[in-house]
Amino acid sequence: MPAQRETKMNTRLTCWIGIAVILLATGAAAIAQDDLDQRIDKNINDWVGTYKHLHEHPELSTEEKETSTLVAGQLKKLGFEVTDHFGKYESGNAAYGVVAVLKNGAGPTVYVRTDMDALPVTENTGLAYASKVREKQPNGEVGVMHACGHDLHMTVFLGTAKMMAETKDKWSGTLVLIGQPAEETVGGAAAMLHAGLFTKFPKPDYVVALHDTSSLPAGKVAWHTGTMLAGADSVDITIRGFGGHGAAPYVTKDPIVIASELVVALQTVVSRESDPLVPTVVTVGSFHAGTKHNIIPDEAHLQLTVRTMTPAQREKVLAAIKRITNGIAEAAGIPAERAPIIEIAKDNVPATINDPALTQRVAVALEKSVGKENVWPGQPIMASEDFSLYALEDPKPPTTMFWLGATDPAKWKEAQEKGTRLPGPHSSEFAPLPEPAIRTGVKAMTGAATELLHK
Ligand SMILES: [Zn+2]
Ligand SMILES: [Zn+2]
Repeated sequence: MPAQRETKMNTRLTCWIGIAVILLATGAAAIAQDDLDQRIDKNINDWVGTYKHLHEHPELSTEEKETSTLVAGQLKKLGFEVTDHFGKYESGNAAYGVVAVLKNGAGPTVYVRTDMDALPVTENTGLAYASKVREKQPNGEVGVMHACGHDLHMTVFLGTAKMMAETKDKWSGTLVLIGQPAEETVGGAAAMLHAGLFTKFPKPDYVVALHDTSSLPAGKVAWHTGTMLAGADSVDITIRGFGGHGAAPYVTKDPIVIASELVVALQTVVSRESDPLVPTVVTVGSFHAGTKHNIIPDEAHLQLTVRTMTPAQREKVLAAIKRITNGIAEAAGIPAERAPIIEIAKDNVPATINDPALTQRVAVALEKSVGKENVWPGQPIMASEDFSLYALEDPKPPTTMFWLGATDPAKWKEAQEKGTRLPGPHSSEFAPLPEPAIRTGVKAMTGAATELLHK
C-alpha cells in the first residue's frame, strides 16, 4: 500500500528534521552551558572560600557592617556602580544596605536580592569553619551563626554578579543587585524601600531571589507559583483581671485562669473557623504571669505568632482572635474598663506570593541552566520573609523566589529512606554543602537573570 508507505516515509522525514532541530537547539544551549560551567570551574574555589569566610564571621541583623563592606567591595571590583550604607530603619538608624547597578544597554531592569544577616544561635555543626562569634545580649551572651544560610545566598549572589559582568555580550538591560540587611528581624527590606530604593535607582521590571532549604539535596532547585511563604503577624495580649491572695480566689478575677482558657479557645480559630485547604497557624509562644505561689496577679501576658497565606485569611484570623479574647474576658466577668489589650505588631510581614508569569519564565530558565532533572516542584512553607514587601512597593513589580537545595545528597537520601532528622534553617546544626550548592545557585540565578535580560 504505497500511500501508507509514503505517509510512513513522510513521518520519518519529519521526525528526522525534528531531531535535527532539537540537536541544533540543545547543541547551542550546551555550548552556552559549557561556557558557564568552565567559568564556574575557574571561580568555584574562590567562592567556597568566600562562603567559609562569611560563615565564620556572621553579624546579627542591623549590624552587618563588615559583611556589607565585603559585598560592596566585591561588586565594585566587578564594575558595578555601588551605593552602600543605603536605607534607614524606623528608629532613624542607618542600615547597611548595598545597591549595585550594572547598565548594559537597552532592555528591562532586573533586581536580584540577597539577605546578609545572621541569627542569635550558638553553632553546633562541628565544621572547621564554624562560627565562634559571641555577642552580649540583654539576657546574657549568645552565639551568632549564619543558621539561615544567608552566607550561601550572598556567595551565590556574588558569583552571579561575576558571571553577569563577564558575559555582558549575552544580555541587554540593567542589572541591580541588592544586599539587604535585617531580614531575620524584619525591617531591612522596609528600610531600603522607604529610603527610595525604587526611585533613586532604576525602576524594577522584575525582582528575583532564592532561599536555601534542607528539604532539597544540594544540586537541585525548586520553584512554586503563587503563595510561597506565609504572612506573619505578632500579637500581644494582656489579660487584665483583679489580683489578690491565692487563698481567696473568689474575691479576685484570676487572669491566669482566663488566659489559660484563651490559649485553649484560640486553637479553634484554625480547627473550627479556617478552611482546611488554606494553611493557617495560630501559636501561643509565650505565656507570662505572676510572681509567687500564693499571689493571684493582676495581669497575664500572651504572645502569639499568626501565619496566613492571603490578606483575606489574615483579616479573618485576626478578627477571630480579637472576638474570642474579648468574649472570654467578658464571660469571666471582667468589666469593660479592664477589657483585654490586644496589640497587633506594626512590623507584620505579608505573604510572599510568586508572580505566576514571572515564575514560569524563571522555571524555564532554571531547567535550561541546571538541567530539567535538577528542577523539582517546590512546596510553600509557613515561614515568612520580608521579600514580600518588594512586590507591594510602587511600581509593584512582579517578584519570585525559588528554593536552592542545600543538604548533602547522601544525608538527604538517608533521611528519605530511614526517616533520620535533617537539621534545617534556624537550627544550630544546619550545615549546607557548599559544593554543589554554590555552583547550582550561581548557574540557576545567572540563568534566570540572563533569561529576563535576554537580547
Ligand atoms: Zn531565617
Ligand atoms: Zn532566611
